[in-house]
Amino acid sequence: MSLCQGCHSGCCRSFAVPITGADMIRLERETGKTFWDFGCRWADESGAIAGNYAPHFHFQDEPSTPFVICLKHEESDYHPGTARCQFLQESPPDATRPVGAAHCGIYNGRPAACRVFPTKYDVGNELPIIYPVPEYGRAEQRPEYRLCPRQWSPEDVDSLEVAQDLAVARYEIQFFHRLAEMWNRHAGAWEIFPDFLRDVYQRRITLMPEACAQPELTPEELSAEEEEYRRNVVKMPRPASNQREAA
Ligand code: SF4
Ligand code: SF4
Repeated sequence: MSLCQGCHSGCCRSFAVPITGADMIRLERETGKTFWDFGCRWADESGAIAGNYAPHFHFQDEPSTPFVICLKHEESDYHPGTARCQFLQESPPDATRPVGAAHCGIYNGRPAACRVFPTKYDVGNELPIIYPVPEYGRAEQRPEYRLCPRQWSPEDVDSLEVAQDLAVARYEIQFFHRLAEMWNRHAGAWEIFPDFLRDVYQRRITLMPEACAQPELTPEELSAEEEEYRRNVVKMPRPASNQREAA
């Protein structure tokens, strides 16, 4: 039985969950909701939310504040005064489970950060490792914020799935960091941010540029063509409401 089965999901109550643009698109498709229903920006001056994972974005209304794009939290249905991810589906507490049980309501579409917990790449950036999970996920050591009932072992995870999830998470977060660099050069309004993301991800896949298909091009010429293609993907045509200069 999976370690998570029957757990009250302290992880989904304790942690801010950073999302990428790819997570946003998938969640919009899976849930029929829009970013404004499930997404938010959390100020992160200390860098604790971003950790070594998420990029910081800046916005016109608070240009000096670094924000991380995250899932919204809301108050627990059964544990007043405590928070949980809005997608967490809770069951009421009972005699055997004083904190109840809970499960992810969007399991197949859950963000990359949720898929890979608690694994990451080793120092060589090649092999998945399981990192130790602390006893509690928040300073308030309430039972709702207690994490896993025991430490994870390799037998608890699917070795193929973990490696693939980590590879996808790494690709998507690198792409999102690149977007953040572009966005922050001319930080725009928070209100247009989801449109900006939808636009970039819509244009992410294209046909091979014609010049790249010519066999006589040197590797340097090919690189230049591909760089031009990359610039086009992230140059980001602005929604009509956006008054920013083109990047
Ligand atoms: S999306 Fe699902 S797995 Fe991720 S924090 Fe929310 S409930 Fe938990
Ligand atoms: S706290 Fe640990 S065991 Fe419980 S759902 Fe989260 S990852 Fe799984």
